[in-house]
Amino acid sequence: MYIVGITGGIGSGKNAVTDRLQDLGITIVDADIVAREVVAKGEPALDKIAEHFGSHIVTESGELNRKDLREIIFRDKTAKTWLEQLLHPIIRQSIKQQLHDATSSYAVLSSPLLLETDQHELVQTVIVVDAAEELQLARTVKRDSASKEQIKAIMAAQLPRQERLKKADIIIDNNADLESLENQVIKLHTELSEATHRA
Ligand code: ATP
Repeated sequence: MYIVGITGGIGSGKNAVTDRLQDLGITIVDADIVAREVVAKGEPALDKIAEHFGSHIVTESGELNRKDLREIIFRDKTAKTWLEQLLHPIIRQSIKQQLHDATSSYAVLSSPLLLETDQHELVQTVIVVDAAEELQLARTVKRDSASKEQIKAIMAAQLPRQERLKKADIIIDNNADLESLENQVIKLHTELSEATHRA
């Protein structure tokens, strides 16, 4: 299976791109969704988290109390490391399995941390969705009704735009309107479908 990685900073347009590719029949594995799936109600990782941090970390309905967990790992570095060591291999294994099960002509791994983690080792081509920082900020503030400061803090913790661009095999320029983005996605899909068909 030919696997394409899609990444980009917050609000760069990853979802706008992958939604369109999904409409075209391509299997999308979204690392953020997988990270939530592995700690969903009834999952073994959730039991381990409850054993480690105490049962209060699970709500009465059996869901992970994300807010409490976020607060714990924000305060306690050891707790953060423990959690990462638990979840990292489980998330990676689930991503690999879902990519392996894909039936489309190629599959996509979409991840904001593709280049910051070893997830890039799972892909043959790195696509970066790129937008100017002012656009990332404006689009995310509008989408999430968040403050500029909150979004700027997240942007500051991510890879700088130029560093990310240096690591791209293909760049999708999302500085114009959604129609321009759609045209680029269709062109990319045609090229990838042809290349994977030939291979
Ligand atoms: P995150 O990392 O936060 O998941 P993302 O990279 O997936 O973000 P999107 O959610 O796809 O980004 O895009 C951010 C917002 O900007 C969305 O509301 C989306 O509809 C909008 N958007 C994306 N591209 C454009 C564009 N070219 N013109 C106008 N709005 C856009």
